[in-house]
Amino acid sequence: MLIDLHAHSTASDGTDSPTRLVAAARDAGLAVVALTDHDTTIGWAEAAAAVPPGLTLVPGLELSCRWTPPNGDRPTELHVLGYLVDRAHPGLAAALAALRDSRLGRAERMTERMAADGLPVSWERVAELAGSASVGRPHIARTLVEAGVVSSVDEAFATLLRTGSPYHEPKEDLDALAGVRLVTEAGGVAVFAHPLARRRGRVVGDDAVLAMVEAGLAGLEVDHPDHAPEDRAHLRRLAAELELLVTGSSDYHGSNKRVRVGAGGHTSPAAYEALLARATGSAPVVG
Ligand code: AMP
Ligand code: FE
Ligand code: FE
Ligand code: ZN
Repeated sequence: MLIDLHAHSTASDGTDSPTRLVAAARDAGLAVVALTDHDTTIGWAEAAAAVPPGLTLVPGLELSCRWTPPNGDRPTELHVLGYLVDRAHPGLAAALAALRDSRLGRAERMTERMAADGLPVSWERVAELAGSASVGRPHIARTLVEAGVVSSVDEAFATLLRTGSPYHEPKEDLDALAGVRLVTEAGGVAVFAHPLARRRGRVVGDDAVLAMVEAGLAGLEVDHPDHAPEDRAHLRRLAAELELLVTGSSDYHGSNKRVRVGAGGHTSPAAYEALLARATGSAPVVG
């Protein structure tokens, strides 16, 4: 029974529509897939309507957050997965709307700065490509590929879009503890996404995990494609010590990333059952 608890669709920065995503999940032999788009639940309805027989869909989301250490050091970006939340929870819905809105302004400013420097990109095209999705750097990256500025999304992230590039602007985000509390208050289950994905930038220490646990964190995403073996081992020990669920996933993004759905990491049936038992906000969709 293969379980993949983290995948993106065209509702954020994946390239498969929710319909294609659930079909691809079934084709990959998965029994369970979670749809976890960045800062949105807009893909849930389409995915739920398309779940093929033999597949179960776990509705979820991935919240853009930041951890601010109590000692006043600069904040670190991190992601919190929220499974089976009540998407009508007013606090959560308002937070998601604010995050998506700030993504729009930020992506527009980044694109306009490139255009002002003579790069053949336009906000109009980025916005068109993103449609109703939660817009992000991958949309800008695809526009740059289309315009022939770079040869791949990876190259765009390594150059013009990397943190520290003159064109890069950080996203607005939610305090990590507030994010965990919101997911939990909305009846969902909060899991720290790829806590040690070092190639994306700075990562947090165990102190952040401890604080998040006090706020209601239920699990750690341990088996993730961006995690080195020694980091997986560390996270597994930490999860055991703190009695946290251990999850695994592909973090599939369609053709924006190389990993296929159902590859790179899986969640055990026992952890999945424990996750379901904690959720009260919404229910999985059985195909
Ligand atoms: P943003 O949220 O707009 O800052 O963009 C970050 C998103 O880009 C993350 O959700 C990643 O999934 C994605 N991402 C990061 N690095 C890459 C890469 N090299 N190729 C494709 N997508 C990436
Ligand atoms: Fe992403
Ligand atoms: Fe993430
Ligand atoms: Zn993700």
